[in-house]
Amino acid sequence: MTSFSSFPMREELARAISDMGFETPTPIQQKVIPQLLSQPIDIIGLAQTGTGKTAAFGLPLLHHTDLAQKHVQTLVLSPTRELCMQIQEELHRYGAHMKGLRITAVYGGVPIMGQIREVKAHPQVIVATPGRLIDLLERKALSLDLVKTVVLDEADEMLNMGFREDIDFILKNTPAREHTWLFSATMSNEVRGIAKRFMKKWEEFSAGAANVTNENIDHQYFVTNHHNRFETLQRLLDFAPGIYGIIFTRTKQDCQDVSEKLMKQGYHVSPLHGDMDQKMRSKVMERFKNKQLQAIVATDVAARGIDVNDITHVINYELPDDPEVYTHRSGRTARAGKSGICMSIVSPKEISNIRQIERLVKQRFNRSDIPDGAEVVRKRLFFYLEQIAHAEPQEDFAKLYQDSIHEQFEGMEKDELIRRLVWLQLKDTISNYQDSEDLNAGYESKERGRGFGNRSVRMFINIGQKDGINSPEQLLKFIIESTDVEAGMIDRVTVREMSSFFNVASTAAEFLQSTLSTKKLKGRKVRVEEAEQSSGGRSSGGGRERFGSGRGNSSGSRRSDDSRPSYGRGERSESRGESRGSSQKFNKRY
Ligand code: AMP
Repeated sequence: MTSFSSFPMREELARAISDMGFETPTPIQQKVIPQLLSQPIDIIGLAQTGTGKTAAFGLPLLHHTDLAQKHVQTLVLSPTRELCMQIQEELHRYGAHMKGLRITAVYGGVPIMGQIREVKAHPQVIVATPGRLIDLLERKALSLDLVKTVVLDEADEMLNMGFREDIDFILKNTPAREHTWLFSATMSNEVRGIAKRFMKKWEEFSAGAANVTNENIDHQYFVTNHHNRFETLQRLLDFAPGIYGIIFTRTKQDCQDVSEKLMKQGYHVSPLHGDMDQKMRSKVMERFKNKQLQAIVATDVAARGIDVNDITHVINYELPDDPEVYTHRSGRTARAGKSGICMSIVSPKEISNIRQIERLVKQRFNRSDIPDGAEVVRKRLFFYLEQIAHAEPQEDFAKLYQDSIHEQFEGMEKDELIRRLVWLQLKDTISNYQDSEDLNAGYESKERGRGFGNRSVRMFINIGQKDGINSPEQLLKFIIESTDVEAGMIDRVTVREMSSFFNVASTAAEFLQSTLSTKKLKGRKVRVEEAEQSSGGRSSGGGRERFGSGRGNSSGSRRSDDSRPSYGRGERSESRGESRGSSQKFNKRY
């Protein structure tokens, strides 16, 4: 594998890369950087955000920058203000040791006068949104006459946003342009159109599998009736206590409504949509980046500029109309080598849209059960216990109140004290989920069981994340390899910490159970049994006990497995709520 040190880059860049701790070039960087360093031809790079594409064009463009020349040599066009700022920031980091380098970002939504001053200070590189750049050109605040290289970043997004004519105008006004580097997540006729109009001969580079198929993303979908959509969202949020996510809605109105409803209930979220002015949007992004928000509720357009690497969950409150938009949304998680979850809430009618997206993403999506009240309470309980286990109380605080605390609880047993603390923490959740409804829907539709008739059996298996099975795909692979049962026979795989569930065609259930029960995974005997109360279709609760009135433990062995700590993949175990001394309402939800 190529390393950064093998790239013939100027020494200042190599030093910056090493300062930043980059070790291995990403796939798109491996392909693009050597070419553009040695011979900067015209290229099309197919890569999404998160694949390292900024460095793929940024390092070569800085390498070729002549620091002695005080005119604009490179122009980077990008669709949004946020992206412009991020690109500028990233380029600054790469060029940190290049003395005399000036990079200016210009974008709309802020007063133009300050930017006019900046572009007049002779930057070598300008990062711009098309609209603001044209404004500056028309005011003759800057000239692109000596620009040699133009980078079009997220070209498909710029076209989606209606910048086609602006891009054409700008490219026509770069008479000295020698190279055009076009980056796009997808290749459409319109993208190709730009290439045909403005590039003579180009080479295409693709980030390969990372382009649309990011194997680190666990795609899940939850089927519920339309009127239960909001409640389902709430439940998914409650079930992911450490979530740091983006919730996508289709319209600005939904974005506003959903976030308002969530905020009213004590969730720390904020909307992000195009009707908000730039100042408000920046504020939201700042709070999100500082982790003061657990999630942003965003429309597709507004979310374009979000560049945060540790998003744990993307939730599609509504699926987008265009499957390609799904890939943009899901690509917000599992970035820079991390893993992430993309959840979609769909109505039974929308299951066919999931199939379409699966084909595009070339990954199988997992239909997951919307958790019931008991599961939510259990999840939050163990999350809280984990937080206590890892809490590091401030020394001064602990000392200050040590005596009074001791005095107050002198006569109370430790277990009783813990019981009370846990109760105080969880009582609101428990009360919210008392007799909560089963929100799952659509199991009676013809989609059920995908190709295995209309009868399936819900199975329990005693292996889960603790056994190194971290995703439904991994469990499916294990089952198929152990039994030779066809993949199409198995559906609705849900992997939990200690155990998992899946549906299997009833015709294969017995065989699967007896075969799997002879197997071992990492030395542990595999146990498979029919999940309780499971019958052909979906039974209410699907074999899980309901929380509340009937608290009896009806699910025997499974219960003893599952009642140990359980954390969703990608969850963060540190506390956010408590550390900010937040209100009870906040604690209740977060
Ligand atoms: P981008 O796709 O350009 O938005 O980059 C996504 C993130 O990955 C940015 O925060 C980069 O700083 C980071 N990054 C880019 N290249 C590498 C690399 N080779 N190794 C580690 N991190 C990288």
